[in-house]
Amino acid sequence: MTVKNALSRRGFVGGVATAVGYLTFKPGLGLLAQGVGPAHRLAAGAQQPLNEYDSYAKLSFNENPYGPPDSVMKAMTHAFKYANRYGYPDGGIVEEIATHHGVRPENVMIAAGSGEILDVVGSAFASNGKKVVGVDPTFAQVYQHVTSVKGSAFTVPLLEDYRQDIPGLIQATKKHYRDVGFVYMCNPNNPTGRVVTKQEIRQLLDGVPEDTVVLIDEAYHHFVDDPNYATSIPYVLEGRPVIVTRTFSKIAALAGMRLGYAIAPADLIRQMSPFETGTINALVKHGGVAALKDTESQATVKRLTLDLRRKTTTQLQGLGYTVIPSETNFFMVHLRRPVVPVIAEFQQKGVLVGRPFPPMNQHLRVSIGTADEMDRFMVAFKDIMSRPITTAGRGEGRLQ
Ligand code: PMP
Repeated sequence: MTVKNALSRRGFVGGVATAVGYLTFKPGLGLLAQGVGPAHRLAAGAQQPLNEYDSYAKLSFNENPYGPPDSVMKAMTHAFKYANRYGYPDGGIVEEIATHHGVRPENVMIAAGSGEILDVVGSAFASNGKKVVGVDPTFAQVYQHVTSVKGSAFTVPLLEDYRQDIPGLIQATKKHYRDVGFVYMCNPNNPTGRVVTKQEIRQLLDGVPEDTVVLIDEAYHHFVDDPNYATSIPYVLEGRPVIVTRTFSKIAALAGMRLGYAIAPADLIRQMSPFETGTINALVKHGGVAALKDTESQATVKRLTLDLRRKTTTQLQGLGYTVIPSETNFFMVHLRRPVVPVIAEFQQKGVLVGRPFPPMNQHLRVSIGTADEMDRFMVAFKDIMSRPITTAGRGEGRLQ
C-alpha cells in the first residue's frame, strides 16, 4: 500500500489552495477553533499564510497525518465529475457500509462526520428535559449538543485508573431512569485512550433498563490491539437499542472531507432520520467506499501509529513521566504541573497539542503524528519541562 506523501496530496488540492493563497487560520484561535459541526468554522477574519499552517506539528486533533491512500484519492478525484450534480451515483456507500458490517442498509445512517450523528442522537433522544448519562472527561460534544436542545448531561467521574465506571453509569441510569434519553460511551475513550472491555460493555447493557438507548462511539476502533476489547455492533444484530458510531476521520484520513455513520436497529435509525442534515459531499461518498476496501493501507497506518506511540511514550517514561496506557492514536502524559500554560508554550514552539480536559488539569493529550512531528514534540517537551512553571497562555479550545 502507499500512504500518500505530502507532495502528491498537494496535487489534489493544490489548484484551489494556490489560487486562494491563504487559509483562514490563526494559531491559538483558528486551529483550536476547528471543532466539529459549527465549531469547524475558523475564527472570522483570522487570515494567515497557508505555509504557517503547514509549518506546525499538528498533534492536537487526533488526525491521521499521512493523508488518504492512493485508492481513496483516485476514487475522490474520479467523483469530481459529479461536483455540479445533486442526483449523482454515490458509489453505493450505504450498501457498502452495511455489507462491511453484515447488517442491512436500514441499519445504517451516514452523516457529515460521526460528530453529526452524535448531534442527531442527542436531538432525537435527549432534547427537552431529557438526560444523557456518561463519564467525564470524554468527547463532550454529545453533552454540549444535548444542552443546546434543552436537555442535560448527568456525568460520572472516571475511576482512579482513568477507566470508565460501569457500576456508576448503571446506578446513574437507574436513578434517573424516567429522564434518561440515552447513555453515551466513547470506546476507546477520548481523551484517555482507555478501552471499555467487552465484558464491561455486556455488564452495562445487561445492567441498565432494557429499553435504554446506549450510544457507543467507536471513533478510534481501528487502533485497538487489546484482545479484551470488541466492537459493540453485534448487539445491534441482537436487536438491542444500541447505536454504534464510526468515522472516516481517523484511520481513513478523511477528517476534512466529513464522513461518519451509525449502525443501529432500524426503528432507532427511523427516529433519528428527521434530524439528519444530508450535507455529505459527492467526493467523500466515493472516497468512503474505496476506504472501506483498502484494509491494507489502514493496517500500515495502524502499525506506524502504534510504533510511534510506543517510541514516544517510552521516551517520556524514561524521563520519569507517567503515561496513561492508550489503545488509540493519542495518549495522555501526566505533567505534574498545570497543562494550560504548557499548551501555549508548545504552540510558541510550533507544536500544536491537545486542549485541556478538566478535571485532568495536569494531563496533556498528544496525538500521534509523523516520526518527524513526534521528534519535534520530544525536543519541545524536554525544553519546556526543564524550565520553571509559567502561568502565561490560554489553552481553551473547541472539542476534538
Ligand atoms: N467521536 C470522538 C470520540 C472523536 O474524538 C471525534 C473527533 N475527534 C468525533 C467523534 C467526531 O469526528 P468526526 O465528526 O470527524 O467523525
